[in-house]
Amino acid sequence: MIGKGLLKGLGITLKHGVEKPKTIQYPEQRPYLQERFRGCLEFDYKNCIVCGMCTKACPNNVLSFETAPIEGSKKKRLVSYTIDLQYCMFCNLCVEACPTNTLFFVHDFELSTYRRDEIKKVYIPPALTQVDAGGGQAELIPQDALEPDREAEAEAKRLKQLQAMKTALSKGGQKVLAKYVDTEEDAAVLANLLQADEKKRDKMAALIVDDKEKARKVAQAFVAKERKTQAGGEEK
Ligand code: SF4
Ligand code: SF4
Repeated sequence: MIGKGLLKGLGITLKHGVEKPKTIQYPEQRPYLQERFRGCLEFDYKNCIVCGMCTKACPNNVLSFETAPIEGSKKKRLVSYTIDLQYCMFCNLCVEACPTNTLFFVHDFELSTYRRDEIKKVYIPPALTQVDAGGGQAELIPQDALEPDREAEAEAKRLKQLQAMKTALSKGGQKVLAKYVDTEEDAAVLANLLQADEKKRDKMAALIVDDKEKARKVAQAFVAKERKTQAGGEEK
């Protein structure tokens, strides 16, 4: 029949025309990746015991590492670990061979670089230091683990200031509050209000410690509202 092929072709076009699109607008739209998708190979230096199983398992010599002897021990420590991703075929053999789950794949699949040497990933762990693990045993831990936790220190300092501010406000704190309102009279109104209302007192103390500018605005709003309430009470 004449036109049979044409009709068949139109039928196929129509069928695909009403189908849900199978492509996405990359890079604006991101693809859905399965949980076990193998993107970039990553290395977590903390777990590495420099056993060399990964380098033996890799068929493409992608992996290499350098070690140095640990003083007073037969063990070695990791100095650097290199993954030359340009030769990796994502076969997973190294991940399976590693006894400590140090190597793993992540979902990052955009691995192209402008320069060939940029695709090589070199991990240099922070220096290890020897600490007493108790029972006459020594343990090696990364140097940065011994450094003080600045965030925790800052939070402890903040809590101390907050407690001191709450105590000051619960006792009146008119002098402190005078910095956040326009007149001494306003400071007295605010001090009385905060002494009577614990919730407001806590809020004000937190603002004075964390955000002085906002504390000023809130203090003035408290005073204005309190004055309005007082004026309403007097009128009645
Ligand atoms: S995934 Fe395969 S090719 Fe890539 S580093 Fe591991 S063993 Fe080598
Ligand atoms: S197999 Fe794992 S633990 Fe052993 S050297 Fe390789 S990454 Fe480190």
